[in-house]
Amino acid sequence: MEEISKNFKIKFWGVRGSHPIPNPDMMKYGGNTSCVEIQVNGHLIIIDAGTGVIGLGNELIKNYISSGTNEFNREPISAVMLFSHTHHDHIQGFPFFKPAYIGTSKIHMYGSKSLGLDFADTLSQSMFTPFFPVDLGEMDGHLIINNFRETDMIILAPGETKPITKNIFDYDMSKLDEDSVIIHCLKSYAHPKDGVLFFKITWRGHSVVFASDKEGYIGGDSKLTSFARNTDLLIHDAQYIMDDYVSPVTPKQGYGHSTPEMAIEAAKLANAQKLILFHMDPSYTDKMIDIIGENIQNSIVNAMVAYEGLEIDLVCTK
Ligand SMILES: [Zn+2]
Ligand SMILES: [Zn+2]
Repeated sequence: MEEISKNFKIKFWGVRGSHPIPNPDMMKYGGNTSCVEIQVNGHLIIIDAGTGVIGLGNELIKNYISSGTNEFNREPISAVMLFSHTHHDHIQGFPFFKPAYIGTSKIHMYGSKSLGLDFADTLSQSMFTPFFPVDLGEMDGHLIINNFRETDMIILAPGETKPITKNIFDYDMSKLDEDSVIIHCLKSYAHPKDGVLFFKITWRGHSVVFASDKEGYIGGDSKLTSFARNTDLLIHDAQYIMDDYVSPVTPKQGYGHSTPEMAIEAAKLANAQKLILFHMDPSYTDKMIDIIGENIQNSIVNAMVAYEGLEIDLVCTK
């Protein structure tokens, strides 16, 4: 039992939305943009590559270097990277993700086809001269870049580093090794202009759902409610407090982000066991976010605000 409890871990490397904010008033929650690491049954899954992914990459490199004496005997870095979408705050750390420059690294990357372009084409447009000195295709690591659709599921079999993608309607689930990790996605259009992907990672009956960069709907988001039903952990956008969301001077309605109230409603409707508020506005100081955290204590949902360095063991949260 002890071994299992250590095997579904979630770590937050970047929790801000919009842009990074290095500022002494924001050190408690952190200034890096979106990045979440999931270690599950020996697999490394990374959600988003905002600036938070730079620190994660540096740690992976440290472990890689200490695993051997040269590039031929070191343990190669292997990861699945899921991209919610390609706004700057979700990809701007990738050019500085050092494992992608190591020739033995294998990084399986998944994102949505958007505005008619394959995910690989969209991503390569974000990284080429003169905007960055290295083109995406010039990175030494083996990058396997795929479109991810709602009808797909990614299977990470025990001990296998290569993910398999199957159609959810065609696959005989009885063939599945019960120790496999499964990744599903849901396309949401509640974020301009072409929506985002939400992700659900499931292992041994436990799951985490990542739903950032989405605005709430009146009565809740029915697709998300079904997708996240009974999840152990819902990571949900909560960028704006209600006063900012409906501000008569600079209203944020239609920006594609939620308030803490919307996140709480989503968690309640889905019967999520725990809610993490994510993608905090970069203008919010630690003091302001402390108040958000205090206010949500009165809700019936088990909720907290994400901060850089927060680690959650899913099996232990139940
Ligand atoms: Zn964002
Ligand atoms: Zn966005």
